[in-house]
Order: sequence, then C-alpha cells, then structure tokens
Amino acid sequence: MRAVMTAEDMKRSLDRLGCEILERIPDHDSLALIGIQRRGVDLARRLASGLAAKLPHSPLCGELDINLYRDDWTTSDATPHINATRVDFSLEDKSVILVDDVLFTGRTIRCALEALLDFGRPRMVKLLVLADRGHRELPIQADFIGKVIATTREQRVDVHLLERDGLDQVVLS
Ligand code: 5GP
Ligand code: MG
Repeated sequence: MRAVMTAEDMKRSLDRLGCEILERIPDHDSLALIGIQRRGVDLARRLASGLAAKLPHSPLCGELDINLYRDDWTTSDATPHINATRVDFSLEDKSVILVDDVLFTGRTIRCALEALLDFGRPRMVKLLVLADRGHRELPIQADFIGKVIATTREQRVDVHLLERDGLDQVVLS
C-alpha cells in the first residue's frame, strides 16, 4: 500500500481543478456539475462549494448513480447500469462537468453519457476525475485530471474522503 495523494495534495488539486473549470468554461452561468455515485458526488459537492466562493452564485449540482455489475473491477467484461439519478434541473444548453473519483476503463462514463441524454441537450459535457489510473477500453479521456496514477490492471486506487471515510487520502493497493 502506497500513499499517492495526501489531504493537502487533494485540496490543492481540487482548488486547481476549480480554477481550470473557470478558465476553460467562460460562461460560468451555464455550469452544472454532475457527480457519479458516491465519491464522485462528494467531489462534485466540494467543487461546487469551492466555485460558489468564486462566483456570484453556486453552480447547479446533480448526481448520477451508476452500478457496476462486476465481480471485480479488473474484469473488463462487466457492464455498468444506471441505478438512480438526481438531476432536478434541465441540462438544456448547460456546460456539464461530469465528476468521478477514478477513471479506469471508461465504461462508467460511457454509461453516464447515455443517461445524460434524458435530461436535455447540454451545450457541452466535460469530464473531471480526481485520479486517472489508465487502462482505457473505450475512446474516453478526462478533460480535467487531479492526478495521473500509473497502475497495473490488478492494482486498486483507494480514494478516502473526509465526509465518507473520515480522512482525505488516496492510496494505491
Ligand atoms: P471504469 O468504468 O472507468 O472502468 O471505472 C470507473 C468507475 O469505477 C468509477 O466510478 C470508479 O469509482 C470505479 N473504479 C474503477 N477503478 C477504481 C479504482 O481503482 N479505485 C476506485 N476507488 N474506484 C475505481
Ligand atoms: Mg465510482
């Protein structure tokens, strides 16, 4: 087990990612953050509150719940399914930032993009992840990345978040 991000690293990354969003998406009023299940939702909320401090109002924030039917993360034949969603606003003409903790094969994001279509036609959809661990199986890349972490397929990146796990830390195991 090896620590790859400390609490301080995570805070700095999230601050930087918030700044990058404001730089690269000029129409701040159109921003909508959509977190993916559990830790992506936690991260989207953190980003939204960080952005709220820099903007006249807090950006819209919603959540998608996508279940991975996998025996094991490292088995690539499993398929993610939409479980539940909470998006209380139209995504019509919004600049949507999908937020997840870890990007691996890309299958979860493919599924998320399909689910988003039910909520209107966004102006654009970007992807933000705290950690990109590689091993993509689809042509999906993140636009905003906290940290690229070199992994083998068998390794796991454990993302611990204060609000859920009692501490902020990313470890490779
Ligand atoms: P993908 O669909 O890209 O293969 O996997 C991404 C999804 O599975 C994300 O929602 C992420 O939370 C979870 N995931 C995949 N690999 C890991 C990992 O090594 N660590 C953690 N914490 N989540 C992972
Ligand atoms: Mg996940």
